[in-house]
Amino acid sequence: MKRLLFVFVVFLSLLSSSAFSQSNNQEFRVSFSKLLKASSAEFVFQPPDGFSFIGISAYCMDNTQDVTVHYRLKRMGSWTPWIAFWLFTDGDTPDRVSFEAPPVTGEFSAIQFKASKSINEEIVFRLFIPDPKIKNSANCLEAISDNPGECSCLIPDVCRKECWCSSDACSEPYEATLTESTHIIIHHSAGHNSSDDYAAVVAYYWDLHVNTNGWDDIGYNWLIDPNGVIYEGRGDGVQGAHFSCMNWETTGICMIGNYVYATPGEASLQSLRNLLAWEVCSKDLDPLGSKFHSSSELDLFIISGHLDGNNSQSDHSCAKGTVCPGDQLYKLLPEIRTDVASLACMNIDSTAFESDYISINQFLVFPNPCRGEFSISLIFKENAGHYCIEILDAIGRIIYEKRGTAYKEDMLFPFDRRDLLPGQYLVKVTTDQEIVVKAIILNR
Ligand SMILES: [Zn+2]
Repeated sequence: MKRLLFVFVVFLSLLSSSAFSQSNNQEFRVSFSKLLKASSAEFVFQPPDGFSFIGISAYCMDNTQDVTVHYRLKRMGSWTPWIAFWLFTDGDTPDRVSFEAPPVTGEFSAIQFKASKSINEEIVFRLFIPDPKIKNSANCLEAISDNPGECSCLIPDVCRKECWCSSDACSEPYEATLTESTHIIIHHSAGHNSSDDYAAVVAYYWDLHVNTNGWDDIGYNWLIDPNGVIYEGRGDGVQGAHFSCMNWETTGICMIGNYVYATPGEASLQSLRNLLAWEVCSKDLDPLGSKFHSSSELDLFIISGHLDGNNSQSDHSCAKGTVCPGDQLYKLLPEIRTDVASLACMNIDSTAFESDYISINQFLVFPNPCRGEFSISLIFKENAGHYCIEILDAIGRIIYEKRGTAYKEDMLFPFDRRDLLPGQYLVKVTTDQEIVVKAIILNR
């Protein structure tokens, strides 16, 4: 009897995996009620050569069952101990229960699933298998806006969805809810402190959020890997799914990694500070301030951690007790707020000393972003007087200064500063009449 039913389960799995022809992902639909006394189902599975990790998750469309599910792997002919999935439910998809587990690394040849009890709804087990075609996210960084508007802080270059997603699925349009953020919420992903393929890690989070949790899109607006690469999630101005169902008027930034015990590295913190500077500057928010957040009904720092929403009594709140973004990242938030507030791009106004006379007709910095080679073009009116060109680093230290006298002329200043570290810099031009400032991004 057991053998017959097992064939039935495998047959279902073959049917379902054909629906994933665009990727290598596998789905196994298991009906534990049909297994009668047998509580487990086994699948032979050959991971592709050289895989960096395989994501394992599951979901069930019956959230009334108090069921625990486990998996184990056959490695070198022996089964590992059973590993329990943790259970995840969420107000955005109330009829669904999801099961998550840490990503698997290392070779294995088969996988078994078991449930703690028989239930009527089938459980869909899902294996996410990274696409080997996408490896180096740092190679496809691009600017997503060259128009900082009123704000001197530019958004750093990001790895867009087309870069980290191997199929068209991630770019499929859906009815996004737009929102004007009053608060920026910092998260950690609680996994993947190391990887040689963070683009695949982001693609896995997308797959987990969309195909396992049943959300419209990856939960976060932005993600940052330990190398400092910023990934486009839902992007700017779109309501995400990250703040315990209190997502209205928030932007979610996820630091990839688990920061309960580990401290985030400087590369990722630098990218976080630059991204936050653009977020608060472009939205006219005070990085040191706090204000009432409508959907959590809490007074929250403008830059808050996910766990700051734990005390919410709001009807929207759907989960409690998170430790996200982890102690080690959470305790850095005061310092991060101060660092962002003190960034040079946050503190320099481009203002004319005499509003009726502007001596600089045109001020260009190009190309921007660049890899260290750029030019500054200035067109002065007659009698502009003295000028001073300064290049400042992100915290306002002057790293270059040139003084001269400007006549009515076009002036071009080429620079080769490939010696500088990647990051955001400011070009500041002061004349007798005004100060003008433009931000420039130097990439790797
Ligand atoms: Zn979180």
